Amino acid sequence: MKQELIEVKEKALIELSKINDRNALEEFRIKYLGKKGLITLYSKRIGELPPNERPEAGRICNQVKKEISSLFKEKKEEIEAQEKAKRFEIDVTLPGRAIPRGHLHPITQTIKDICDIFTRMGYTIVKGPNVELDYYNFEALNIPKDHPARDMQDTFYISKNVVLRTHTSPIQIRVMEKQQPPVQIIAPGKVYRHDSDISHTPMFHQVEGLLVDKGVSFADLKGTLTAFVHEMFGKGTELRFRPSFFPFTEPSAEVDIRCVICGGEGCRTCGGTGWLEILGSGMVDPEVFGFVDYDPERYTGFAFGMGVERIAMLRYQINDIHLFFRNEVMFLKQF
Ligand SMILES: [Zn+2]
Repeated sequence: MKQELIEVKEKALIELSKINDRNALEEFRIKYLGKKGLITLYSKRIGELPPNERPEAGRICNQVKKEISSLFKEKKEEIEAQEKAKRFEIDVTLPGRAIPRGHLHPITQTIKDICDIFTRMGYTIVKGPNVELDYYNFEALNIPKDHPARDMQDTFYISKNVVLRTHTSPIQIRVMEKQQPPVQIIAPGKVYRHDSDISHTPMFHQVEGLLVDKGVSFADLKGTLTAFVHEMFGKGTELRFRPSFFPFTEPSAEVDIRCVICGGEGCRTCGGTGWLEILGSGMVDPEVFGFVDYDPERYTGFAFGMGVERIAMLRYQINDIHLFFRNEVMFLKQF
């Protein structure tokens, strides 16, 4: 019986090695390991042997069963792995599925383009907090508590001395507090005002610029902004500086460009004037230097600020600012 069992085992192992599908494997299991399988039959026959031969036969029978079972299990795993791999097989001849690709929001793109122009001129991009202290938003920019300019910017107050910044100008102060001249920064970001109509939203974007060094003049401001306008709106774009007032610059000027819609003839967009206002600018008021410990006898500087939505509306000829924030894909897809 011992010899028979060893022969059965060898036969079984050869059969098993040739199997490579689930059905044949199941047939194999029934034939050898099933309830009426060969190994089971042999183990039943042990009881018919003379008592002194039973332990030896039992041991061999168990060992053979164990070996076959273990190799059967290995084979089963192997076949299952093969079947799984087959299910995930990729047909490389099929055309790929295109993944729809988005793009930057027109406002984000415009901020990026503005910043790119100025970084090429040597400006560094800096950011500041959206929730700002009254001191940085007004006080240090030469806008004291009773100043009428506070009324010009309908402010969201968080508490008595904390506001949602109404402009990006507080970043100027924060930078100048930390750093001695030369300063050459560009500061993009969101600003907030209690204001909403066809050309205003309670949240919008500004880009602020500041340059402070020895011997900076209004001519530098003019040259810088002319270079910017030519990069942004095209080489031939005409611009003009119009005297204005800001509490933190002296003298101050608003910058207009020739209307991009009518070319100067006069239309609805430019209100018949042929000019479009795009930014405010001026020489930093010596009073402001007083707040940050810069010596106004040694240093001069200029600052400018522009509304990003305004620039984007002119650039893409959009007549309603709210379109930027409605998140309508049909609108956004155009840019
Ligand atoms: Zn016009």
